[in-house]
Amino acid sequence: MNILRKQFLAHVGQTSPSPMLVEVERAEGVYFYTPEGKRYYDLIAGVSVSNVGHANPAVVKAVQEQAAKYMHVMVYGELVETPQVRYAKLLAEHLPGEIESIYFLNSGAEAVEGALKLAKRYTGRTEMISMRRAYHGSTHGVMSMMGQPEGEEWKQAFRPLLPDTKAIEFNDFEALTEITERTACVLVEPIQGEAGVRPPAKGYLEALRRRCDEVGALLIFDEIQVGMGRTGAMFASTRLGVTPDIICLAKALGGGMPLGAFAARHEIMDTLQTNPVLGHITTFGGHPVCCAAGLAAMEYLLANRVLEGVETKGALYESLLKDHSAVREIRRAGLLLAVELGRSDRLYRIMEIFKEIGILSDWFLFCDTAFRISPPLVITEAEILESVLLIREALDRLETELP
Ligand code: PLP
Repeated sequence: MNILRKQFLAHVGQTSPSPMLVEVERAEGVYFYTPEGKRYYDLIAGVSVSNVGHANPAVVKAVQEQAAKYMHVMVYGELVETPQVRYAKLLAEHLPGEIESIYFLNSGAEAVEGALKLAKRYTGRTEMISMRRAYHGSTHGVMSMMGQPEGEEWKQAFRPLLPDTKAIEFNDFEALTEITERTACVLVEPIQGEAGVRPPAKGYLEALRRRCDEVGALLIFDEIQVGMGRTGAMFASTRLGVTPDIICLAKALGGGMPLGAFAARHEIMDTLQTNPVLGHITTFGGHPVCCAAGLAAMEYLLANRVLEGVETKGALYESLLKDHSAVREIRRAGLLLAVELGRSDRLYRIMEIFKEIGILSDWFLFCDTAFRISPPLVITEAEILESVLLIREALDRLETELP
């Protein structure tokens, strides 16, 4: 083992006993490279982060220029900072319904934390409902909203968590009656990500919206993984035709820099201004360099009409992989695919083969039988074809090694 890897294990806090240990020297487009010059296809884009590709020149330029002008000046929300304002305005133009007030933070978990607090503050209620097999982040509050029972193993070790939370089954219409006048909010990923790409059943989100309206609960969409173009629309809610009260964003929002946000109509968001004032505060939220990067990435997606190609690219992956005998099923939303192998031993083995042949993939927190394909949205047809050849080679080997 080389010295850097040894130091990585010795000094960089670990939460897994078996990290990949692949060293990154540089990344560009859909690839990253090791110091030995080995090329990897990045088929997860930092888990739906690098939508405009690694080292996208427009994002690099925006980061460099903003870093040279000013970085952090003052805690969030006091000074008028151009990248933050311009980005908030552009997002507001594309967010569904009348959502136009955007509160920037540093990560996905923080975005969800802020949204939950806002829902409690606005409704004056305490009960918060989430969905089974949901993942929203790893802080205490958000972990309380991790869907049971799959998240139970993680949650148990960190109790006590937030009281008055419960999880209902995603896509179960009957369970909607559990949402009542006591409920402050329902938190849902409109397409479940870490459950292994589970889209909503026909009419489910509409029924959820109606139930929330009936009882006066706020509907929060977590679009942290599926927002910013992953499904082929800038926001999945627009594509699915259901408008939430609060929407959470992160991952691709920062164009590769750490940035999260929760957004709502003014009437809701403005409740954080009084009783108490400073209802939610953060030092670095909406960092000017992160906002400049995110703004450049979103402008790039729009100017180059990248989203128009997402559905076709996702469908191409699906059509080229679904006939392989090792593949049981493919679940897909735009360029987010779960390739179902039906067996976890096969999944663990294919990860090793991928590593060997130069593919970076991953499994899902609540689905250890499927691997993920969620490359940068700018991936070309030629790159899809070449990566499919590699994936099929890995699938062939899998069938021989683990019949
Ligand atoms: N919400 C969803 C749907 C996610 O997929 C994730 C991360 O994977 C998060 C929230 C948490 O985001 P972060 O890791 O930035 O806290």
